[in-house]
Parts: sequence; structure tokens; C-alpha cells
Amino acid sequence: MSKNKQSQPRVAYFCMEYGLHTDFKAYAGGLGILAGDYLKGAKDHDYPIVGVGILWKQGYTDQLIGEDGQPYDTYHNYRYDFLEDTGITVDVEIRRRNVRCKVWKLDAFGNAPLYLLDTDLPENEDAWITGQLYGWFGEERIAQEMVLGIGGVRALRKLGIEVDVYHFNEGHALFAGFELLREARKKGKSFKKAVKKVRQKIVFTTHTPVIQGNESHPIDRLMYMGANLGLKPTQLKKLGGSPFNMTVGALRLSRASNAVAQLHGETANKMWAHIDKKSDIVAITNGIHLPTWVDPLMLEAAEQGEGLWEFHQQNKRRLIDFVKTRNGVELQEDKLLIGFSRRAVAYKRSDLIFSEPDIIDPLLRDNRVQIIFSGRAHPLDDGGKDIVARLVEMTRQYPNSVVFLENYDMTIGAMLTRGSDIWLNNPRRPKEASGTSGMKAAMNGVLNLSTLDGWWPEACEHGVNGWQFGDGFESENETELDDHDRAALYRVLLEEVMPTYYHQREKWIEMMSASIQSTRDAFGVKRMLDEYYQLLYAKG
Ligand SMILES: *Cc1c(COP(=O)(O)O)cnc(C)c1O
Repeated sequence: MSKNKQSQPRVAYFCMEYGLHTDFKAYAGGLGILAGDYLKGAKDHDYPIVGVGILWKQGYTDQLIGEDGQPYDTYHNYRYDFLEDTGITVDVEIRRRNVRCKVWKLDAFGNAPLYLLDTDLPENEDAWITGQLYGWFGEERIAQEMVLGIGGVRALRKLGIEVDVYHFNEGHALFAGFELLREARKKGKSFKKAVKKVRQKIVFTTHTPVIQGNESHPIDRLMYMGANLGLKPTQLKKLGGSPFNMTVGALRLSRASNAVAQLHGETANKMWAHIDKKSDIVAITNGIHLPTWVDPLMLEAAEQGEGLWEFHQQNKRRLIDFVKTRNGVELQEDKLLIGFSRRAVAYKRSDLIFSEPDIIDPLLRDNRVQIIFSGRAHPLDDGGKDIVARLVEMTRQYPNSVVFLENYDMTIGAMLTRGSDIWLNNPRRPKEASGTSGMKAAMNGVLNLSTLDGWWPEACEHGVNGWQFGDGFESENETELDDHDRAALYRVLLEEVMPTYYHQREKWIEMMSASIQSTRDAFGVKRMLDEYYQLLYAKG
């Protein structure tokens, strides 16, 4: 088995962020969690993969909720003693200045090591580049992406690591493709021939169906930064259009690409239908690393058909204690507990459940419904911060039943997806690409209550392993969509979820079991890796 896998294509996986451990501040959110689970899966199942990323000095941002109820971004310098110095540095010219990148190795994942680039060196005038993950936009972002892509390929060369497939997880890594083009052109290939050759080695995962999430830059900015590596403006335009779109560039410079759930596959193909000469976008639904996220006692109990409720209540108590310690609030163990944590951004509608006060107010007043929220906004997203502030305001209105845990991280993610009764998710369909927190919840017997977006349409058997609401309704008119989904959420919550929780405990436990059994294999990282190898990495 393992011998077999080691003869598979050797993959270099490029990603801006990796969510490997709660205290290793190299991640912001779902993209990083996916990359972290992917590396852990590669180790467990013995796939020949190396990860390439950046060592972020300050990580993403540490969220602090002020006395005034507003979220504030704070930054700390982090140092890690578990990284190995490879002794190797590579140079990248950025804005006509040389930037030296030190290469660190994280060797915790055996056959799947992670190499991290770091510009925080005394000789660099631009030591700040690897300071803050997703810090700023524009030129600063391009500089970070040049370190990841160009520095990453150069590091692999210097380390002597042979690569069959370059996998760009998101368009951030695209400049790695420019470095491969530069190598090919240096050997005398024309632009056209170089593109043809390089494409054969690149695969690409696209993530966001939200247009603004697909970064683009004016071509002259790329030229000014030196990201073009000798390509002319007309050649850049051929790849990524003008302004230059990183996703479009990656679709054109890859031989295969994927979306991260089946529905997202349809959405992504529609979204990019007008782009010619791109790779086919197949759908490979994300998966999670079970040992990281799932309580083995719950898996075991689901198999044995006993103990589910007791083990779940233990997890719920742990969560309640955690909340008590962090926020001083004492939630009730025998009352329905809803978990909701995700990035604070408009389309995820974090406060949808509060939008009809006449309905929700009495339920929160006597704790028939209790809700724990968590989630950070991007430092430059004032709209996202307003959402956080509104949630915090709700905790002040309902101090015994609504909680906001500040600074969402992997610890909070694990706590909530084990200890809640219900996992609520209500994005405006079809804006959620996949969503892996719902998978974590499902495998822990925490029942999903979600619009039919992201991965959930693939798993949901309404009233059997969780619930959907909204019936997959879509509308360009956001008010219409929100009105529709709000009514549907309250109907399912009041007529199905609450009666089952409070009056049909046996049925609830059966649903927990169905939730675990129907998701544990289908949404595990092993299935995802196998599909990557079949559909992306294998030579067609
Ligand atoms: C699982 C997880 C995510 C991804 O969850 P989504 O469902 O995509 O929101 C993000 N952040 C943390 C800390 C997580 O644990």
C-alpha cells in the first residue's frame, strides 16, 4: 500500500496559510484549515507531498472585543521553537529591491514536510512582507504572493526536491507559475511553448464564488512590482486579462482545476464560462482530518449504537465550562445550544436568527434557545466588524443565553463543533464554497441546520441526519432571499428542531447517529486526497 503511494506523482502544494495547530498562527480561516488537514491527511495516508507556505510573524490578527462592544485587531510577534532551519535562503527581487527569504522546515508530518519562507531578516529593507497574513491589499499583497510563489519554487530547487505536480491552493500562488515560465523561457522556449509546457505541471483549486474574493491587479502594478518576471504586458493580459485576475490566470496556467463542493463546481463553471483556454473545473468536495476534529468516543458510540447521548453531553459540558471560564456566562446543559462560528462577512448573515425579534426574543429569555457565536472580520472590512459588534450587542441584551467568544481559532472551532447541539449555517446560496465546520459538527453528532449551500446539499437528508431550510431558493434580490430564508429558518427551528430536541429525545439520538455514519467517510480528508490523485494529479 505505502510503496504504491510513494510511486504516485510528487506534489508541491502552495498555500498562503496552514491551520495545523491552534497556537501556530499561520492561518486565518477555512482555506488554511483545509491546507492543514490536507497535509495531515497526506502524512496519515502516505502520499508524497510537500507543502510550501509563509512563516507569518504576526499571524492573521488577534481579535479583542472592547468595553464598547467593538472588535479591535491586535497584533503580536510570535516565535516558534519547533521549526528547523534548513540553512537555505533564496532571493526574490521585489520592487527592484532584493528580498532574501529564509527557508524553514516543519518536519512534524513525516512524508509531508512543510517549507515556510520568512523575510524577517536583518539584511532586508522589506522584512515586513511576511509580517501579517492577508495584511493590506494591492502592492503589499503582491509582494507576499511573490515570496510564496517565486520564492517557493526557488526554495524547492535549492532543496533539491523533485516535483511532478505544482498545486496552487487559491490564486495567491500563481506567481509560482510565472517562475516556472521564466525557467522554461530561459531554456529558449517561446512564451507560447513555455505556457504549453508549464501548464502540464500545474493544477489549481479555486475557492470563492464571491467576485471580490477573486483578487485582481492592474497590469502596470504587476510590472512595477517585478512580479511579471520578464513577461510583457500583452502576455500578462493573455493569461489573466486586464486588470489581471489571479483566478483567471491560474485557470489558464493549469492543466486541471477543481471547485471545493459539487454545487460550487456548478457555480464556478458558470462564473468562469466566459474565460477561454482555461482548464476544466471539476468538483472535489473538501474533507476534514478526523483525528484533529472528531471525538473518537462519538465515532465509536455511533458504531456500537450506545452511549451517544452521554458522550455528547460530556462534550457539551466541556463547552459550557469553557464559556464560563472565558466569558463568565453559565449556559444550561439541558437546553438547546446552537453553535455559529464563521468569518464575519455580509453573505454569511451571522445575525439572521435575530432578525424577527418577536419570534426569537421569548426563546432567548427563558433559554429554550441558547447561542454561542465566534468569528473574526478581515482587518480592513468595516462591514464585517459591524456584524461582530451587532452580535456582541445581542450578548448584552441576552446575557444568559447569547455568547460571543472572541478571537475565533482552532480551539474554539473544535470546542463548538463538538459541544453544540445544533450547528447553524445560513449563507446566501450559492455563495458558500464548501464550509468544513459543518463536517466537523456532523461527525461529532452535532446536527446541521443549514441552507442548502456549500457541501450540505450532498449530505443532507432532511429530518434524518440534520435539517435544511430554504429549499435551495436563490434570488439576485437580497431582500427577497433574506425574507425567504428567515421565514424558513424560524419554521424549521420552531416546528422541527425544537420539538425533536425537547420531546423526542430518541429520535434526536437516532439523528446524531445518522449524522455521524453518513458523513464520516464521505467527508473525510482521505476521500478528498484520493480524488485529488485521481482527478487532478494523475496524468490525463
Ligand atoms: C473549521 C474551521 C474553519 C472553516 O469553517 P467554515 O465552515 O468554512 O467556516 C475556519 N476557522 C476555524 C478556526 C475552523 O476550525
